[in-house]
Amino acid sequence: MPFEFATARRVLFGPGVSRQAGALARALGNRALVVTGRDAARAQFLTGLLLENAVSSVLFPVAEEPSLDTVRQGVAIARRENCRLIVGLGGGSALDAGKAIAAMLANAGDVLDYLEVIGGGKSLVEPSAPFIALPTTAGTGSEVTRNAVLASPEHRQKVSLRGPSMLPSLALVDPELTWSVPPASTASTGLDALTQLIEPYVCRRANPMTDALCVEGMRRAARSLRVAVEDGRNAGAREDMAVASLFGGMALANAGLGAVHGFAGAIGGMFNASHGAVCAALLPHVMEANLRALRQREPRHEALRRYKEIARLLTAKPDATADKGAAWVGQLARDLRIPPLGVYGIGRQDVSEVIEKGARASSMKANPIILTTEEQRDILERAL
Ligand SMILES: [Zn+2]
Repeated sequence: MPFEFATARRVLFGPGVSRQAGALARALGNRALVVTGRDAARAQFLTGLLLENAVSSVLFPVAEEPSLDTVRQGVAIARRENCRLIVGLGGGSALDAGKAIAAMLANAGDVLDYLEVIGGGKSLVEPSAPFIALPTTAGTGSEVTRNAVLASPEHRQKVSLRGPSMLPSLALVDPELTWSVPPASTASTGLDALTQLIEPYVCRRANPMTDALCVEGMRRAARSLRVAVEDGRNAGAREDMAVASLFGGMALANAGLGAVHGFAGAIGGMFNASHGAVCAALLPHVMEANLRALRQREPRHEALRRYKEIARLLTAKPDATADKGAAWVGQLARDLRIPPLGVYGIGRQDVSEVIEKGARASSMKANPIILTTEEQRDILERAL
């Protein structure tokens, strides 16, 4: 049972903790590139805090999920403006963009040289520039992961820039920053967080440390996701979801994921659909398919016991069967009005390409059991 565990160098969690950003940034640099979401005005409080602490900044808004060009542009601006510190404020897109910019600011060459699958696959040699992550959604856990998901429109594919040195220098997880997230986005990002707790818990590289995080995270997401969607200013629910997201990020970075993320990566490269919503649409179907496949081919597999534990945690019923867990997730997705994959223009004609691209994803390889092409086709057709 050998395992390794690595996370951000420092994690500060709590309501209001983001107000320390300026003072903490000062120790890491005096000029920052602030990578943020579409609405750059939301970063004003942060640039103000930085300035109060003698850290000047340049804003770099990222409109959607980052591409290779987003990273190239960010690095060029940081170099031109002499920014040695990167601060990411936003959802997974802004944080992943910031993380990739911090890595490429310190490493020579083009981002493509370092990418898996479509690029040169080189290792990042130099440690990233200092990077502070402030998540404003509770979903991706990107503040504690060592990869950045980037789109290459030219390859119609999403790939990860990855390396141990990409772990942020500092994660400031302030649940208050998520209060203004609208219900639909709270639902889809929250279901991504839940997926990122379920998949590492049953995956091939689960370990005792990630198990502990997954169990606690699932317990909190189960009791608080609906509340957070219905009442965005419920401090307790928002705090639970921020913990669930943080723990999911720690778990996936140290254990791995599964078929939901294998498919979601492929779909995200081919269609314009938010990652959380895609995961949410797939999760109940992947749970059902994994259960069927395990019972048929590996009835003594440890993951079967774990699926039962998941059902207990989600339903809060000590005698819940594994199937009840999958059913609970399916009902939650329906209650939270998660649209099927068809709304993004994905049809039966695309299923083969999703399967082919998904097969190359590291997440697919971590799934507790290898799914046949037929089983994969069935999952995707049900999720359409
Ligand atoms: Zn995810």
